[in-house]
Amino acid sequence: MAGTDVTDTPPVVVLLGPPGAGKGTQARRLEERHGLVQLSTGDLLRAAVAQGTPAGLAARTVMEAGGLVSDEIVLAILKDRLAEPDTRAGVILDGFPRTAAQAEALDALLAEAGQAVDAAIALEVEDAAMVARVSGRFTCAGCGEGYHDAFKRPAAEGVCDVCSGDRFKRRADDTAETVRARLSAYHAETAPLIAFYDARGQLARVDAMGAIDDVTEALGALVAQARAA
Ligand code: AMP
Repeated sequence: MAGTDVTDTPPVVVLLGPPGAGKGTQARRLEERHGLVQLSTGDLLRAAVAQGTPAGLAARTVMEAGGLVSDEIVLAILKDRLAEPDTRAGVILDGFPRTAAQAEALDALLAEAGQAVDAAIALEVEDAAMVARVSGRFTCAGCGEGYHDAFKRPAAEGVCDVCSGDRFKRRADDTAETVRARLSAYHAETAPLIAFYDARGQLARVDAMGAIDDVTEALGALVAQARAA
């Protein structure tokens, strides 16, 4: 694939950051440009909800309230996804781990396959900006390109810049009220993981308040480093 790094070892990279920090956008770009597989537990859970699986049914109310789905459900879903062969190209974990128990379970899961986390990257943002960022966002239903009511509208109103699709969707949990609950869950349960990976010498921090392209560039350099390590 053009622009893909030459693979030394398939890296496992964890992206940390609150809702609205740009984890999904950046993970998608790293997938396109660096050949890593984006593994988003939020996407996997939304698919389970849409399919009405038992896990989806159990997760739905918690997600709509902005809380964290149980470690048991999330781990089962992640384990199944990690067992699929495409993940051997290396993965970028987007939205996982979110609790200390998940971080420990991830280590154990990877160890079974002779792997380990190579790097954790914290996207640093200002909390105050996140409610506006998240509550205005929407995506193209066709290709998944992300947009925002205030910050990034399609060039032609109602038409996706990338695939010319004309259907867009909004996440049910992207309301101002739910974003506040999600931010609280992040600070209570997930932010401590920054110290966890820092103590292991695996943490890098990236200022994610700036331009999307600048953040992608900084992340790309860190992924290349993780590959070479
Ligand atoms: P996200 O797409 O990452 O913003 O996740 C959307 C929602 O899915 C979160 O607000 C949680 O309710 C749930 N979720 C996603 N990933 C996890 C996880 N690793 N642990 C617990 N809940 C999660």
